[in-house]
Amino acid sequence: MEYRNYKIIKEERIEALNGLGLLLEHEKSGARIMVIKNDDENKTFNIIFRTPPKDDTGLPHILEHSVLCGSRKYPVKDPFVELAKGSLNTFLNAMTYPDKTMYPVASCNNQDFRNLMDVYMDAVLYPNIYKDPRILQQEGWHYELEDLEGDMTYNGVVYNEMKGASSNPEQVLFRQIQTALFPNHPYGYDSGGEPDAITDLTQEQFVDFHKTYYHPSNSYIFLYGDLDVVEQLTWLDDAYLNDFEKIKVDSELVRVEPFKTRNHVTKSYAVGQETNTDNKAYLSYNVAFDKPGSQYEHLGLEVMEYLLLDAPGAPLKEALLKLNIAEDIFGSYDSGLRQPTFSIIAKNTSIENEALFVETIESVLGKIALEGFSKRKIEAAINYFEFKVREADFGQYPKGVIYSIKALDTWLYDGDPFENFAYDEAFRQLRESVENGSFISLISTYLLDNPHTALLRLIPDAQMLAKKEKQLKEKLNQYGSTLTKEDKLALIEGTKALKKHQAEPNAREDLEKIPLLDLVDIKKEATPIQYEVFKEEGHEWILHKTFTNNIVYMRLLFDFSPLTFEELPYVSLLTRLLMRMDTKQHTYSELSDEINIHTGGINADTSVYGMNNEPDTCQTKFEVKFKCLSEKMDETLALVKEVLTESVFTDLDRLKDLIFENKSRLSTSLTSGGHTVSINRCSSYFNISAYYKEALDGISYYEFLEKVVSENLFEEVSNKLNEVLDKITHRENLHILVNTEERYMVPAKEKLLELITVFPEKAITYEESTPITFEVLNEGFKTASKVQYCALAGDYVKEGYLYNGHMKVLQTIMSLDYMWKEVRVKGGAYGGFAGFRRNGQFFLGSYRDPNLSKTYEIYKALPDYIKNLKLDDRELLKYIIGTMSNVDVPLTPQMKGERALGLYLSNVSKEDEQRERDEILSTTQDDLTALGQLVEAVIRQDFFCVIGNESVIEEGKDLFVTVKTLNQ
Ligand SMILES: [Zn+2]
Repeated sequence: MEYRNYKIIKEERIEALNGLGLLLEHEKSGARIMVIKNDDENKTFNIIFRTPPKDDTGLPHILEHSVLCGSRKYPVKDPFVELAKGSLNTFLNAMTYPDKTMYPVASCNNQDFRNLMDVYMDAVLYPNIYKDPRILQQEGWHYELEDLEGDMTYNGVVYNEMKGASSNPEQVLFRQIQTALFPNHPYGYDSGGEPDAITDLTQEQFVDFHKTYYHPSNSYIFLYGDLDVVEQLTWLDDAYLNDFEKIKVDSELVRVEPFKTRNHVTKSYAVGQETNTDNKAYLSYNVAFDKPGSQYEHLGLEVMEYLLLDAPGAPLKEALLKLNIAEDIFGSYDSGLRQPTFSIIAKNTSIENEALFVETIESVLGKIALEGFSKRKIEAAINYFEFKVREADFGQYPKGVIYSIKALDTWLYDGDPFENFAYDEAFRQLRESVENGSFISLISTYLLDNPHTALLRLIPDAQMLAKKEKQLKEKLNQYGSTLTKEDKLALIEGTKALKKHQAEPNAREDLEKIPLLDLVDIKKEATPIQYEVFKEEGHEWILHKTFTNNIVYMRLLFDFSPLTFEELPYVSLLTRLLMRMDTKQHTYSELSDEINIHTGGINADTSVYGMNNEPDTCQTKFEVKFKCLSEKMDETLALVKEVLTESVFTDLDRLKDLIFENKSRLSTSLTSGGHTVSINRCSSYFNISAYYKEALDGISYYEFLEKVVSENLFEEVSNKLNEVLDKITHRENLHILVNTEERYMVPAKEKLLELITVFPEKAITYEESTPITFEVLNEGFKTASKVQYCALAGDYVKEGYLYNGHMKVLQTIMSLDYMWKEVRVKGGAYGGFAGFRRNGQFFLGSYRDPNLSKTYEIYKALPDYIKNLKLDDRELLKYIIGTMSNVDVPLTPQMKGERALGLYLSNVSKEDEQRERDEILSTTQDDLTALGQLVEAVIRQDFFCVIGNESVIEEGKDLFVTVKTLNQ
């Protein structure tokens, strides 16, 4: 095959991706192109630039945001959000890494795919940043001054986003590890931006960076899926690439000379003023490799990391935990750098333990390098990775997006991108290396005999936040004092002008330039998931048949609704303990090997299924999920039985380790996922599903773990676990999901039927549990965060409304127009969300938000916005199409089964789905404005909850009923 104006560098079949791989160079511009042509209808495009940062101003990141704020052909203020509002994309995003910036999109619709590519290509090559400095001000940073007496502040989307990121100790840790390993190198700088440095960035540096790096000669273009290759390449050439002459771009990542001696670095991170800083430090042992790894090396080191630090019973982790110096030990291997890195981290420790930490790591590694792992252990670990690779289930991420990132492991450093997909060969080499001993020598080659190491201590600082706030004030005052009254008036004008510009709607003729599909492009008929339900002796089967590539997905769902409220945290705890504690037959380490050898994983989880239009009922399930290749069903089910009936919780040391780990990881996610936590906490004041979720996963569960730890209740917990497990595992109201190919359905069902006979038919009778009473707690949670997560929620069913498709359209409008504009663009928060759930929940939430009361006001003004909505036909169509992109989502085989289950348990029928679809497609302006009343009523209920900065919560305390400290 010939491709006009492209030079073929390589063309070969890529077995693992079931397609043809093409590597090309665009002759005139020098753009590098990689194509994977296969039958995946979820087509993906990604354009990547190599963007090494030169400082901590976050230039690559701010540019990533900014090129999506208007371009030559698409001069609206935010084409990105216009595409989110009105395309059928299955993925639309942009991401900044330490050495690259990427712009991936995906869609199953051909015309839509072309539209998305066109907007993205125009954005990256011809952005409006050169002629409109307001883009840098909005996305990066700017001074804000409201009046002459007021205080000057900094604001900007990335500025606040990174304030949020720098509030997360683990993000700070990984950032500082890179600086410690690669000082004075692009990897040593923060491509995302240090808030204090972001405000040094000038417009001139900004556009220069674009000029230098955003050229096709410095680009990597990735195309994937069921696409017409000739047509796409011809279009890329004609529409864009042909306009550029090849140039030399100096973006190569130079190799960092290996250290001669170990680098020792101490850094600090902020904690709350009232936090006890004892044992809140991180210690990390870090290694960098000399050159990009081969696929075999990456795989080998991933397996090694798993064996040493992740797998239950992993010897390095165990040895470090046994020292009793830290709450959690974890490892990380990063292959997405020119010189991959390996880290071993102790969390919540003290720096006095450093010598012991290092000694232990080195002696344990030395011992393992000599003695090796057992054959079965290694085989188990390899199987674990092999199953994941073959299953290729990336959840909501389109495969193409994941593969494009994977390709860069070598491609970005001038290697062969196809090598990353030669899985068979890599696994073959790995197994061979286990046989000939070279696998175990990875430890000495890369970890022990490698001089390029850094020890980083990250210590807590309770004064840091106040100090920084003071410094910032001084810096701003200092700047303010250099300004004349005229300068200040000009700043006030500038602030007003920017706000006015942000508030102004886009010109209609500009909006119309963004391509839009037609309603005829969208199917009228829903494609409901087909599943069968059988009821049998008190339990129910949900059977979903689909092509699963020989995998059988199964799930047991035990009902735990009769448990008392005090028992709920034990259910959550069980999900973290099972499979990771001894059974009567195996130690936990052996058990983990058995699971990896025979299955694709056994996991436990709690789920709460809210009911369609019934805020006061829900189904609470303890779920045991397992998957395996069809020929491994017997072994897998035997293991499930063993775990559920023979687990032993008496090993208090182990129990303690796991509870500490659980607590410490949950504490991180309480802030990194602060929006989800605050929305759910807020909804728990009135909604039963949210109430359970909060008890099982939220702040209440965290408080339970804190109590267990601080009052040393491990023995009490250990005694209670078997009792709770026995109460849960019975056949009464049991649901069983089988999701597999037709041919395995009958055998799977027979084997499962036999398995469940081990559980008693009836639940043990429970004592009467106290009925749940809802309370309007309206809490403000003080943390060491520099930003807020503000949530408001309410119940629309109580106001007399039922869920319908128009709400879905309104959700798109509220999120992508109102919240985007008010909370993000004008407010400076990284994100804002709004939505309705089928169980009566309505919610608003902000993410990494610099404001509190301002955001509350924005929430309160939403009803007026809705009542005054004026959409022309084209805008309405746009929102309808954008809404459909969230309805017709491509699902992996595993997700299809899950969806079937969710719809069934929540009582959503096929008719409901069709009706909602009809409603979405037929939505009128009046349908939407009519919902203004509903939103007004639910907002008036005034359930409000915020997780955020200590002093901001304190300032806004009038908005709360309760103010609390959320311990970290
Ligand atoms: Zn960002």
